[in-house]
Amino acid sequence: MAELLKGAPVVEAINAKIIADVAVLKEKGVSPTLAILRVGERPDDISYEKTATKRCDTVGVNVKNVIFPEDVDQATVMAAVDDLNKDAGVHGVLIFRPMPKHLDGEAVRTALDPKKDIDGITDGSLAGVFANSGQGFAPCTAQACIEILDHYGIECEGKRATIVGRSLVVGKPVAMMLMAKNATITTCHTRTKDLAKTVAAAEIVIVAAGKMETVTADYFSPGQIVIDVGINWSDEKGKLVGDVKFDEAEPIVGAITPVPGGVGTVTTSVSISHVVEAAKKSAGLA
Ligand code: NAP
Repeated sequence: MAELLKGAPVVEAINAKIIADVAVLKEKGVSPTLAILRVGERPDDISYEKTATKRCDTVGVNVKNVIFPEDVDQATVMAAVDDLNKDAGVHGVLIFRPMPKHLDGEAVRTALDPKKDIDGITDGSLAGVFANSGQGFAPCTAQACIEILDHYGIECEGKRATIVGRSLVVGKPVAMMLMAKNATITTCHTRTKDLAKTVAAAEIVIVAAGKMETVTADYFSPGQIVIDVGINWSDEKGKLVGDVKFDEAEPIVGAITPVPGGVGTVTTSVSISHVVEAAKKSAGLA
């Protein structure tokens, strides 16, 4: 049976560090603050906003909500981003995307100051990940994969790591982050030939394909570490499932993240840790 790499203990460890850092910041008169910018009333956004706000409350991080109606104009949103960039009392900004079609979401994304880009959406943050320079912040889901590997003491150096997916949100940044940890990387996508064979040859596998239970028994080999980033609602099972067919992978591999209760739960804590990190940087403490 595979070891289950649950997210909860990782969250607990990240939260403990956040709480300690917040105490130090508050002693110095700094209250770490996250601004959440939302346009419209998309249920997914509202649900994430509630989760993030609750988690922030638990660890002593303030939340400032900037909410616009669905029909807001571009100039108003751009002015809000500009205000948040300039507001010394705001340390991190989370912008819900995609934005409504009449808005230029790309202009909004690029207007955000990478120093406050706790979600890793700006070019500055992505450059920081690629150059391993510490500029901006890594995309939270990619970092959540790394936090899980680190928490469970999984050594990456010299290992063959294969990533299924090449999105800017997960696949590409996690490949760079694993390379920075001296793993040898293969990145797969829809045009990859012999995908199952390539994945089976890896020691560490990150699956971020966005296709429900698409990675099956023939992709896996004994002893592998499998991080399943996928989050998909299965009508058939009436629950969330990953991109990996868990029941087929689990008897074969060495360790695997569950869905739900794996990468997803760690992602929110990573984004809050970025707010605290941004506050520390702004206070000259990091
Ligand atoms: P995405 O933008 O749709 O990218 C999917 C990637 O997987 C693409 O590069 C695509 O290749 C590749 N791919 C798709 N089907 C494939 C297949 N059958 N074989 C090989 N490669 C395949 O998805 P994403 O935003 O990276 O998200 C990936 C998954 O992570 C989704 O299930 C999403 O719900 C989940 N997610 C979870 C969190 C979290 O907090 N846990 C956060 C974000 C996303 P091409 O480039 O060739 O099209």
